[in-house]
Amino acid sequence: MKLNRRMNFSRPDIIRPPSEWKSYFLPLTSGCSNNTCTFCGYYGSKLQIRDIADIKSEIDALALFTRRGLQLSDVAKVIYAVAEGWDGKRVFLQDGDALVYPFPKLREVLQYLNEKIPSVERIGTYATPQDILRRSSDELKELRRLKMGIFYTGLETGDDELLQKIGKGVSSDEEVVEAGKKVKEAGISFSVTVILGLGGIEGSKKHVFATAKILTEIDPDYVGALTLTLVPGTPLYEQWERNEFHPLSPFQSLEELKLIIENSNFTDCFFSSMHASNYLSVRGRLPRDKEKMLSELEKVLAARNPSLLRPEFLRGL
Ligand code: SF4
Repeated sequence: MKLNRRMNFSRPDIIRPPSEWKSYFLPLTSGCSNNTCTFCGYYGSKLQIRDIADIKSEIDALALFTRRGLQLSDVAKVIYAVAEGWDGKRVFLQDGDALVYPFPKLREVLQYLNEKIPSVERIGTYATPQDILRRSSDELKELRRLKMGIFYTGLETGDDELLQKIGKGVSSDEEVVEAGKKVKEAGISFSVTVILGLGGIEGSKKHVFATAKILTEIDPDYVGALTLTLVPGTPLYEQWERNEFHPLSPFQSLEELKLIIENSNFTDCFFSSMHASNYLSVRGRLPRDKEKMLSELEKVLAARNPSLLRPEFLRGL
């Protein structure tokens, strides 16, 4: 893990799950503690841990702005820009895995946030399985008590071999299953993301069936499907340039989505492909909406009409 405490903290860009669009984005860290995923824009990023006094000052400024609309001249304008669109209810802790923030300090931040802005209803964050497994069950329950309501974890694939290949930093998907169990036991919602096309053409079948199997085992509250986007500067992009990685076509990625939905079984899961990286948005509650979602995908796959898909230039990370 590359850790940088001495540099001035630089506020990260907002990279968020689709469902956090109304949230206030409060940075605790910048970068990601596991910066080795070969497809990710955080690859090689340096983890920065933000000073707690700095976080508390931001909460103070936000509280003043929320209560009285006051803007102070010595407070960074970005704080007010983010607060403008805020519904006062949800807070998303940045960055790539804010759960890495040392537990006593994390607890202190959440206590402070609750005390200063009691209207906050739910706090969410990205969390790696490693971060979750490092926390005891009591610590997770304590976070829940302080309104931590959801963890977003990148499963990416159920294929262990692919997991190693992409540098995910977990030894097997069993770790994600264990992490999910712990999170749910603490009463925190568990949302996992999978990446369509991650195995390329050659690895596609193994990727989808293994992913459906592990999703069934985790049985999360939410699944978000993303579509692989090759990011310049990442090792996977370089593999593609060397013709060592063969990406799926948009319709092949939809076939993967269909197979994952078809082959996974959930108790009650909100499954969506609403993320901006996807060529098509489908969503629904599984198992209830399974047939409806599959038939939507089948129609688009049968028509093979590119105008039904999100154009490449509108896809985002
Ligand atoms: S995919 Fe997640 S764990 Fe991997 S580098 Fe990116 S943010 Fe970190």
